[in-house]
Amino acid sequence: MSFGKRAIVALVAGLLIATATVSTGNAAAKPAATSVRFGIQDEATRFVVELSAAVGFHIFTLPDPYRVVIDMSEVAWRLPSETADTGNGIVSGFRYSLFRPGTTRIVLDVTKPVRVKRSFLLPPSDKQGHRFVLDLEPVTTATFDDEARLAAIATPEFRPDIPLAAIATPEFRPDIPVVKPPAPAGDAPHVGRRVVVIDPGHGGVDPGAIGSGGTREKAVALAAALEIKEQLEATGRYKAVLTRDRDTFVRLRDRVAMAREAGADLFISIHADSIGSSKVNGASVYTLSKDASDKEAAKLAAKENKADIIAGVNLAHENPEVTDILISLAQSESINEGARFANMLIGELRRATSTLQKSHRSAGFAVLMAPDVPSVLVEMGYLSNPTEEKNLKSKAHRRKMAAAVVKAVDSYFAHHDQLSRS
Ligand SMILES: [Zn+2]
Repeated sequence: MSFGKRAIVALVAGLLIATATVSTGNAAAKPAATSVRFGIQDEATRFVVELSAAVGFHIFTLPDPYRVVIDMSEVAWRLPSETADTGNGIVSGFRYSLFRPGTTRIVLDVTKPVRVKRSFLLPPSDKQGHRFVLDLEPVTTATFDDEARLAAIATPEFRPDIPLAAIATPEFRPDIPVVKPPAPAGDAPHVGRRVVVIDPGHGGVDPGAIGSGGTREKAVALAAALEIKEQLEATGRYKAVLTRDRDTFVRLRDRVAMAREAGADLFISIHADSIGSSKVNGASVYTLSKDASDKEAAKLAAKENKADIIAGVNLAHENPEVTDILISLAQSESINEGARFANMLIGELRRATSTLQKSHRSAGFAVLMAPDVPSVLVEMGYLSNPTEEKNLKSKAHRRKMAAAVVKAVDSYFAHHDQLSRS
């Protein structure tokens, strides 16, 4: 028994060492941030970071209190010791830290609602190196509310995994603002495309459930998510954001954070289950609740919540109470909305594929805990059932399921718009 235990410890240690080696490798290539400065021109405030190399970046704004958040490729901070953190103009202060491996986050505290007027990278000149430039200008509270959301949609997603060379292409034009202007407001109750975040379960070191024929949940979840994204975006009504678009590990809480940062209107986590019996089959949809609707739902939630532990993320400091607190934070409205969508989705899935008898259930799924985003978790079927495993591996079947998801998303927002009109 102690041998078994030692073997597991060794495996986890191996994993951690491997990860550490990779990040040390990245550290050597990290661009350095050597200076920050502020400039004021009329109403606008300019924020500049001098860098030793080009970086990728993604900017969004937050209210209560007003902040501007800049996520950029991980940089090494080599600021002169006299650098003050007090800001200037409408910026009252700034701070920075490593947000997650590969991503540095800079937060600017602003004294009033602002808009990102321009943001760009300047290539090195005779006198200066690479520069990240951000121009902010004050706006009214109403404009801020409208634009913060649209900017989050229009900004290209920040991808620390894209090589820097791909970002700093020769076609780079510093005169073209990176943030697109918001679309003109129409009469529709909702302006711009709805944001649907699709979350393919598991990935990387966490394969998820394994099918009777060896199919991995992480692979079918990703394939299905890509199909759903394609079909949602083909309608022209939605922007679909994936929490992962390749075989990589993403922490559960980062999946939730991504949904919130993308300004998600809806969050759909995609999974496939596996159990001891090869006979059980059918899709099911889960929503968040503190008290699980039944024992199986509770067990499933516990299984899905283990993803972080499998990947070696240390959860020792997170006691079970955190779950309760997070759930009580969740607005009952977004839970109700999630349940409404779940019912619509079950209706559509019933037409497209087989579903479980009790097809909508609830439990404490960590990945459904964005307090302000209606969220559901879909188990597309059982990989332990050979027919369903074959189906999930078939593109035609995944297309059918994706079409069902799109239909449900359409009815969900149609209902929403009707409510906001009346
Ligand atoms: Zn899963």
